[in-house]
Amino acid sequence: MAANWKMHKTVAETREFFTALTLPAARACAVVVAPPYLAIPAAVEAARGRDIAIAGQNLYWESKGAFTGEISGPMLAAAGCGYVIIGHSERRQYFGETDATVNRRLVAALAANLTPIVCVGETLPEREAGQVEAVLRRQFTGGFEGLDATAAQRCVLAYEPVWAIGTGKVATPEQAQQAQAFLRACVQERFGAELAMGMSILYGGSVKPDNVKSLMAQPDVDGGLVGGASLDPVAFAALVAGF
Ligand code: PEP
Repeated sequence: MAANWKMHKTVAETREFFTALTLPAARACAVVVAPPYLAIPAAVEAARGRDIAIAGQNLYWESKGAFTGEISGPMLAAAGCGYVIIGHSERRQYFGETDATVNRRLVAALAANLTPIVCVGETLPEREAGQVEAVLRRQFTGGFEGLDATAAQRCVLAYEPVWAIGTGKVATPEQAQQAQAFLRACVQERFGAELAMGMSILYGGSVKPDNVKSLMAQPDVDGGLVGGASLDPVAFAALVAGF
C-alpha cells in the first residue's frame, strides 16, 4: 500500500502524520510513503523501525551535474528511500513526461538500487475511444524498453486510470481487474509467466477505506497507490488494514 502525498505536507506535518499513524501489527502488505523531497529525511527518521519504506515521487536520470532543480537516484537512496514513483500521470500531463523519459528514469532508479513504481493508465477520452489496451501496451513497452528480466523483476507496476485520480471517480473492481490482467499479460508476453505472476501491480485512483477491500479482492490487483486518502493517518491505516 503506497501513499503518494504529491505536493502536500511540510516537515512538521510529516512528523505529525507519523506520530498519529497506528498501523496493524500484523500486515498483509508492504507499506510505502512518498512525501515531497524536503520531507524525506523527516519521514525516514519517523519510519525507522516501523517497517515502512520511504519513496521519492520522481527522480532525474543523471546521477549528478548541472540540472537545476532535479534530484537523482543516488541522492534518494542516500537519503534513505527504498522506492521511487516514476511516470505518474501528473508528471506526464503537466511536466512533459513521455514513455522515453519514463524509461530513462526507470533505468536510473534500478542503477541506484531503488524499487521503481512505474505508473501507466489511460485518460477518459482514450477509454471512451476504446484505446485502453493500446495505451497500456504502449506505456508498458516504452517504459520497459531495453530492460532484461533481472531488471524487470525488481519493478512494481501501478495501473492508474487518469480519470480516476483525485476525482472521487473510482474504477469498478471489474474495470481495474480487466486492465490489470491485460497489463500482466503484457509482462508475461515480454518476460515470461513466472516473472509476470511475481510482479506486483497496484491500482491507483480514488482508493478509499470504503472501496479498498473490493478492489484488493481482484486477482490481479496486488496493492494500492493512494493519493488523497493517504494524507490522513487514520484513513491510511484503514487502507493498510483493509488490504
Ligand atoms: C495518485 O496520486 O496516484 C492517486 C491515485 O490519487 P488519488 O488516490 O487521490 O486518486
